[in-house]
Parts: sequence; C-alpha cells; structure tokens
Amino acid sequence: MHFIDLQAQYATLKTDIDAAIHRVLDHGQYIMGPEVKQLETALAERVGAKHCVTVSSGTEALLIALMALDLQPGDEVITTPFTFAATAEVIALLGAKPVFVDIEPDTCNLDPTLVEAAITPKTRAIMPVSLYGQVADMAEINAIAARHRLPVIEDAAQSFGATYRGNHSGHLSTIGCTSFFPSKPLGCYGDGGALFTDDDALAQAAREIRVHGQSARYTHTRVGLGGRMDTLQCAVVLAKLPRFDWELQRRRELGARYHQLLAPLAERHPGFGLLTVRPDRDSVWGQYTVFVPARAKVQAALQAAGIPTAVHYPKPLHHQAAYAAFCCPDCCPHSVAAAARVMSLPMSPDLSEADQDRVVAALADALAGLSTGT
Ligand SMILES: *Cc1c(COP(=O)(O)O)cnc(C)c1O
Repeated sequence: MHFIDLQAQYATLKTDIDAAIHRVLDHGQYIMGPEVKQLETALAERVGAKHCVTVSSGTEALLIALMALDLQPGDEVITTPFTFAATAEVIALLGAKPVFVDIEPDTCNLDPTLVEAAITPKTRAIMPVSLYGQVADMAEINAIAARHRLPVIEDAAQSFGATYRGNHSGHLSTIGCTSFFPSKPLGCYGDGGALFTDDDALAQAAREIRVHGQSARYTHTRVGLGGRMDTLQCAVVLAKLPRFDWELQRRRELGARYHQLLAPLAERHPGFGLLTVRPDRDSVWGQYTVFVPARAKVQAALQAAGIPTAVHYPKPLHHQAAYAAFCCPDCCPHSVAAAARVMSLPMSPDLSEADQDRVVAALADALAGLSTGT
C-alpha cells in the first residue's frame, strides 16, 4: 500500500500528461512558456482571485509574499509552531522574527483567541497555516488583522481545493500561498507553487520579485530572486486539473469514511482521537492525521501489517534548534502535545475502500494490542 498513491493518478492521466509534456518539449519555451500564463489564469479563476503568480515552490511563494509586503529585519510575523519548517523559515531568512502562537488542540490550526496578545508595535503580518487540508479560522484572524491594519498570509500548501464559508483556500486573505510539491493535494512532478491575491500592487511586486526584481528586462527595480515555476511543471498541473474536482470529491469521501470507521476506536481507546472539522469549512485531507497513544508502538505494528504511516510533525518548530531562540521552551503547550501524538494514515484520491478497511483493521488491532500489552 502507498502512503500517497501518485502512480495510480499518473496511470489514469498518462495520455494527457505525456502529451502536455511533449507540447512543451516541442515548442521549447522551457521558462515562462505559454503554459505558465494558462495555469495562472485557470487557477485564479478556480479560487476566484484577481491574480495568480506561479513560483518555483511553496516555500518561494511564502518568501515572495513576505518580500512583496516589504518585510524588514527586526519585524515580527505571528505564526504557528506546529507546521512544516518552511512557514517560519522564510520569516527568519528575511531577518524577521517568527512569533509562535499556539494551536487549537482539536484542529491543530492557529488559535485566533491567542493572536491579539502576541501583537506588538513590531508585528507586520499574521501567517496562519491551513494544516492537513483544513482552513484555519480565517474570519477571526482577518478581523484581528483588520483592527491592527496587518496583512494576513494564508499558508495553503496543504489545503488547495478546500473551502471556508463558501470561499476557496488561497483566496481568504491578503495573500494565499500554495505548493505543487508532488504529494500535496494538487501536485506537479517536481517543485512548484503559487500565490494568490486581489491586490494589484502586491501581484506586480510578486511578479517582479520572481524574476530578480525586474520591472522590465534588465531593469532591476527591487531586490528579487530566481523564483519562476518551469513551463514543464505548469503543463503537468494543467493536465491534472480536469481530474482535480473528482479527486477532491474522493478526498472528502475517504476522509468522512475514515472518520466514521475510526470514531468507535476513539471511544474505546484513551489517547486515540480524531481531528475536528469545523462546520463552516471542509478539509481536503492533505494528510489524514489522527492522535494516537504510544505512537512508536502503533507505527511499528502498522508497518508490520504493511501499512505506511508518517508523522506531521514530530517536533514543534520552537523546539527545533534553528528556531529555539524565538520562543520560551514551555510556550505553545498544545503544539508540544500534538507533536507527541499525531500520526498520518495513507490518504490519496486513489486509495481504495478495501485498502482503507485494511488500514482501519490494522489500527484497531494495534490499539487493542496496546491495552492487552501484546
Ligand atoms: C509543503 C509545505 C510548504 C512548502 O512547500 P514546498 O513546495 O515544498 O516548498 C510550506 N508550508 C507547508 C505547511 C507545507 O506543508
């Protein structure tokens, strides 16, 4: 069983993807070819944003977003420590300070009730993460940001395709950033990403930053970087788009089915639990993650049964050496607790119900084994 089955997806889309790749090889515009604009137009329309700017990765999308907002050394950006390192990395790279605010224990997303207390005169932005495919509480976060005139950047690397109060992840705040890393809900065959905004000036800044700060050829108006997404990767995403709605539907069905099948285990086994999905949003289950007791033992039992698992993430960022300076060791207790308990199960649109049943049965056995000590 695959943790994420990308081969089955390729098998069903092979004709279209191969043709799309060959079109690029034939026209030869490997950088900024026509597929780049085509993808940006298609994605902007999809999320309802005025602008989409494709970039070389999800990490670059976050970095370019902060650069477009003119983040300066010494500035502070409020974010969650319970995320992939890229979220805080881009803040630190620019010499700014990630200010870690704890998560809601049941969704693992930034807790908006803790945000206001973390705002200082140096705060320049709030960067929530839509973790595991469920959008953070953007309405609350946007309301706080508006009171303090701060921009909000949604890290939507895991949530492309998710909705929140009828609007699309990526188009819920000043700038939304996503990733097309192969294992994300919408993936390419290498690195890629995009940012979305309705703000003309920010979109223009992002377009210039991704080509070394050029406003015209060899006119370097600002400091930028080489952050373009390859034409080939844009062509791959374009070829995947026609199937994407079906894939999102499958993700929602499989997520709901996991929830239904695993709910009885949560009643039977202390320490085992499911994520909460709030009623005003959905999750695209970028990861299907549960809380487990004795995680190392459960993972070993599942591995022995042929079920791959993963941990997103084993340590909150403020406990990582690179970021320890940014937080007191005993802050963000919910992030610390979640990091000790989370485990992600196989999830992709091509996961079969039969394989899902095997995962659930193996997990039930592993948890039963814990209580009997076998
Ligand atoms: C994957 C991911 C990123 C980075 O995306 P890349 O395309 O791998 O650079 C950033 N934030 C989160 C939450 C992610 O999951």
